[in-house]
Order: sequence, then structure tokens, then C-alpha cells
Amino acid sequence: MAEKPFSDSWADASYWWEGRTPAPDAETLPAKADVLVIGSGYTGLHAAIQTARAGMHTVVIDAGRIGEGCSTRNGGQVSTSIKPSFGSLKQKFGADTAERIFREGQASLDFTAKFISDEAIDCDFRVVGRFHGAHSPRQYEQLARDAEAAHPVLDTEAYIVPESEQHSELRTDFYHGGIVFPKHASIDPGAYHAGLVEVAQQSGASLMPNCAATALAEEHVEHEVQTVRGRIRARNVIVATNGYSGNLLPWLQHRIIPIGSYIIATEELPKDQVDEFFPTNRIQSDTRKLVYYYRLSPDRKRILFGGRVSLRETDPRRSGPILLRDMIAIFPDLEDVRISHSWAGTVGYTFDSLMHAGRRRGLYWAGGYCGAGAGMAGYLGNMIGRQVSGDKTATTVFSEIPFSGRPYYRGNPWFLSSSVLWYRILDRIR
Ligand SMILES: Cc1cc2nc3c(=O)[nH]c(=O)nc-3n(C[C@H](O)[C@H](O)[C@H](O)COP(=O)(O)OP(=O)(O)OC[C@H]3O[C@@H](n4cnc5c(N)ncnc54)[C@H](O)[C@@H]3O)c2cc1C
Repeated sequence: MAEKPFSDSWADASYWWEGRTPAPDAETLPAKADVLVIGSGYTGLHAAIQTARAGMHTVVIDAGRIGEGCSTRNGGQVSTSIKPSFGSLKQKFGADTAERIFREGQASLDFTAKFISDEAIDCDFRVVGRFHGAHSPRQYEQLARDAEAAHPVLDTEAYIVPESEQHSELRTDFYHGGIVFPKHASIDPGAYHAGLVEVAQQSGASLMPNCAATALAEEHVEHEVQTVRGRIRARNVIVATNGYSGNLLPWLQHRIIPIGSYIIATEELPKDQVDEFFPTNRIQSDTRKLVYYYRLSPDRKRILFGGRVSLRETDPRRSGPILLRDMIAIFPDLEDVRISHSWAGTVGYTFDSLMHAGRRRGLYWAGGYCGAGAGMAGYLGNMIGRQVSGDKTATTVFSEIPFSGRPYYRGNPWFLSSSVLWYRILDRIR
């Protein structure tokens, strides 16, 4: 690894913020709205677009800049977002529900592609496919078994790539073969978010940055929300705060586990080196419990490499060199490469590794994407927005399955270090 892992101009900021101007501050918070959306990521903006288009006076607030959270920090890998296997879901919920969960995963991918195309959002959305590498021979065998047992109606078109053919996907000997999911996509997540901001504003929604909601009083007809910029009453409130939820809604806080995800961008690499190591444009991930996810930047000049680096949460100055070291373990010839950007965000996990959406009186929420919400967050945000607008066809299985917390969890993931340690051990022995 280079003696100085950071380039001279490195930034402790998301690569996707480069060259983007944050949405301007709005004037004053209105005293009343039909719909108040708390959180301005993909979930919140997609919901707001639907309610504003239905003619409802819609206000979106965010504690930080518009899009401050994960939606402008992520790796831009768009998958079906469903983490548990079909078999485990079938055992837990029965075959019908398991199938509906998988179908909605696919629907979220299709929805994202169609929305971007219909709204002509310029965000480099491309169906490039994913190569998911096996980090051990045993994991490769498991992938092969999974591919064979794939449910016929789910139509993933996934296929196995043996170790002997791996270099056609990725020039590394780190993996023992892998599986390709041809329908997964890549996106420029910052440009996607910027496009959503534009669509939301054109649809009539008002966006208010630096306006943290600090208290929420649930009432029968209207909710009163206290913010740092005054009070607002709204008949419908959509809580779209995911990994940044805090204690605004204790019920939600007791069900969503905030976990840091860390990522770097390298400085620009020579074209022939990029072409050699990444012969395709696919997105990449692997079978480790502490998964690495990576890809090229849309201009194919940098590698964006992410994962979980430490037992406890840390800062990008520490996480950057660890990620770089791990990336070099996969591509040893890149040992002199340096980091141009290192950043992190807080994703929202759940105890069942599934996302959830729901409503209680006029209070709606969606979240818990378990680090895979690039497509699903918009899909469920759209669903919630349509429900608020009275669309009876907007139903989702993620409102029907139970959303449980644990008696020992009140919002502080004290068990995180031991879980990460356990996963590290599993990754070594499996
Ligand atoms: C480093 C990283 C890499 C990732 N990579 C991928 C990937 O490659 N593929 C993928 O599918 N997913 C990925 N994800 C996850 C994905 O980005 C998220 O699932 C998705 O963006 C969630 O969107 P959201 O709108 O629900 O939440 P967010 O975008 O996090 O938005 C929540 C917003 O709520 C605001 N907020 C919180 N509390 C309050 C309050 N009290 N008042 C007002 N506002 C409040 C926050 O400021 C924040 O802006 C990644 C995440 C990270 C951090």
C-alpha cells in the first residue's frame, strides 16, 4: 500500500457530492400542510412526488441538507434488495408470502428503471448485472446449489461462473468463482437524487433543509410536529428517516438498527489498468458476511469500494486506509493506488433482514432496507405516497409481514461489535 494512502486533494465527503450544489434553503415553515414528509432521501422524495401530484400540499423537511443521508452516499448498486434466501422465507412465512417478497424485490428494480426512464432523469442507470464472488470453495458450492434450486417463477436468470472463467468477469484470484445476476443495475446515486429533487419541486412539493423534527405528537385527526424551525400541523405525516431515525418515533427506533457503512473512491486509474481488472461494467459483491461491494465510477476511471471496516463506528480517515488495504488484497497490482474520497453513512437494519412499510392513523413510515435501498427505498416511498393519496391499489407485502423489535433493544446497537467480530470469524472459517 502507498506510504500516503490519501491523495493530496482527498476529501472526507461523498464522491457523488462532487460538483453538486445542494438544494437551496426554503423560506419559512408553513403552519399547516396536507402531508409532512420527514426525511429527504429516496423514500421521502418518492412519497412526496406522489402526494404532491395528487394535489396535496406537501412539505419535505430534513435535519441536514436535502439528501444528507444515505441516498447521496451509497455505492449505486441497484439490486432486488431481498437478503434472506427463498428457502428461509418460505420456512418462516410460507411459499406464497416468500414468493410475493421475491416478486416485490424484482418489482422494485423494474419500478426504478421505469421511473427514471419516464421522468428522463439523467443518472447513468444501466442494467449491467452483478458478479457476486465466492470467497471460499464451500461458498462457491453453495452458490451453485442455490442457482440450481432457484424458484422457476422468480426468473432471476442468474448463472454460475466457475473459478476457471472468473477472469472474464474480474481479474482477480481472490474468489473461487461466483454467480452473475444479469438484471442488477448501476446508477449514479447523487444524480438520481438530484433528479428526484427536481421532479418533487416540479410536482409542487416544498423542500426544507436544516429543519430537524424534534417532537411528534400523534393525534387522531392531525399530527403536530415540532421542528427546529417552528411547529407544523399535518393530517398525514410520512416518516422517511431510515438509519437516521433517532428517537422521534420510539416505536420505529426500537425496530431499526443504525449501522455505519464505509466506502472509498480511488484517484483516477490508467485506462488500460481499469480495462484489465474490470473487463465488464458489472457491479461487484461477495459472499462474505461482512460483504465487500464495489464497482467502477460511471466514467470508468475510479474504483468505488465499500464495506464494514471496524468493530465500532469510526471515521472516514480511519476507514479509508482499511478499505484500501482490503481492496489491494483483491487486486494486488493496485498497491500504489491512493484514495481521493472516503466517506460513510448510516444504514437501517432490521431484525428479520427485511424492509417494512406501514401506517397507523395518519402516520406512515417505510424503511429498514438493510443497506440495499437504492431501488427499494424509492419503490416503498412511492407506495406510501400513493397510499396517502388514497390509491387503494398501492399494497405491499412489506406492510403485511410482522415488524418486530427485541425486548433488549431500545435503539442503541450495543451488540454491534460482537456481531461484527462473529461475522469476521465466520468469514475466515467458511
Ligand atoms: C456507504 C453506503 C453505501 C450504500 N450502498 C448501497 C448500494 O450500493 N445499493 C443499495 O441498494 N443501497 C446502498 N446503500 C443503502 C441506501 O443508500 C439506502 O438504503 C437508501 O438511500 C435509503 O434511503 P432513505 O430515503 O430511506 O434514507 P436516507 O437517504 O438515509 O434519508 C433519511 C433522511 O432522514 C433525515 N432525518 C433523520 N431524522 C430526521 C429528523 N428528525 N428530522 C428531519 N430529517 C431527519 C436524514 O437527515 C436523512 O437525510 C448504501 C448506504 C451507504 C451509507
